[in-house]
Amino acid sequence: MERKNIYGVCSEVELLAKNILDELKDEFALIDEVCEYNSIKVLEAFRKNRLGENHFYMTTGYGYDDDGRDTLEKVYSTIFKTEDALVRPSLVSGTNALYVALSALTRPYDEILSPVGSPYDTLEKVIGIKETIGSLKENLVSFKKVDFIGEQIDYDGIKKAINDNTKLATIQRSKGYGDRPSISVEQIGELISFIKSIKKDIICLVDNCYGEFVDVIEPSEVGADVVVGSLIKNPGGFISLGGGYIAGKKELIERCACRLSAPGLGKEVGANLGVLRDNYRGLFVAPNVVANAIKTSVFAMNIYDRLGFKVEPLKRNKSDIIGAITLGSREGVMAFCKAIQHHSPVDSYLTPEPYAMPGYEDEVIMAAGAFVQGSSIELSADAPMREPYNVYLQGGVTFTHGKYAIIKTVQSLIDIGMIDKEKMKRKI
Ligand SMILES: *Cc1c(COP(=O)(O)O)cnc(C)c1O
Repeated sequence: MERKNIYGVCSEVELLAKNILDELKDEFALIDEVCEYNSIKVLEAFRKNRLGENHFYMTTGYGYDDDGRDTLEKVYSTIFKTEDALVRPSLVSGTNALYVALSALTRPYDEILSPVGSPYDTLEKVIGIKETIGSLKENLVSFKKVDFIGEQIDYDGIKKAINDNTKLATIQRSKGYGDRPSISVEQIGELISFIKSIKKDIICLVDNCYGEFVDVIEPSEVGADVVVGSLIKNPGGFISLGGGYIAGKKELIERCACRLSAPGLGKEVGANLGVLRDNYRGLFVAPNVVANAIKTSVFAMNIYDRLGFKVEPLKRNKSDIIGAITLGSREGVMAFCKAIQHHSPVDSYLTPEPYAMPGYEDEVIMAAGAFVQGSSIELSADAPMREPYNVYLQGGVTFTHGKYAIIKTVQSLIDIGMIDKEKMKRKI
């Protein structure tokens, strides 16, 4: 096929993209290997649990005897190698699933420990770090965190922080929008062993958001008692229209189910309302979608690294799908986010602007032209408007789209004079 410049960018950008892609062949092959492993893992879980057409039907009302729902939960248990799981549309988001688990598994005077620094922004109100009605703090559950020392987990600090009341450790795999590194499943395993060696009955919960299928093992295989995530991120494969999951030890999942529905009802109720076909389909493609998101991130990080920007991580980190680029100026962040938005499948005619969001100190700009609201397994970028002007990039359902949008961001930064084309020529 004769291809003219189909990207509509200057020839230097096109050549740079081509060269970067050539250099990433080995890296992409590793991503494909993980994808293949996890795709087979999912297929085998479907086979083992005898997934059939009969599991797709809608149930209503109480949802008693919902075989499709129960089978999906068995499939999740098989994939995460746990005794049980809750996978429900009534877990409306990652935050909701985390709240259900944290509140179900703690009692008054218990303490929650975060050994990896501040938890995700939305959990501050859940825990009561920011006082809010209904917080865990209101129920007399206290909280301690131990920050990283530089890039390292502070094991001494954790040992000092654990006390008689420490009931549960909440471990966030992804750095989220924090300034510490994301942690690998291996590191999570070491951390859990350490915590349990000090007090063996501490429940170890992992916030697995953005982490599913990035590695060949999941935190539940290295000692986590419960893992929690969102279906509009990795495991929903961009097909799920919403929902969350909690997988783990049977007695803990039972407690979570009683919190979600009611004591005495537990897992037995909860009509599927017709979402099962999407959730199975999403799970089926999820390892591939995650691979495309990682490729998009790795491609972006390598292009921007070559152009002289600070990026994190440069290689795939086996932790999550997020990449961060330090653009260094408000104009740069805005141009980047605009280019992502303008080259999204949905709402491409809109232009994102920074705005003051509740719960955030600084203005935030968000670019997302997604089929599902807030779905960040779809290509999206966001940035708090403050020094050092980092933009966080995640998702990318197809690498074709991810690559195109990233190439367009580079052209946008050239157009506003933030990247010097002459200097760039020397880097191609
Ligand atoms: C997205 C995310 C959450 C919260 O999930 P929502 O679905 O947005 O409520 C929690 N923790 C981490 C690490 C996340 O990435």
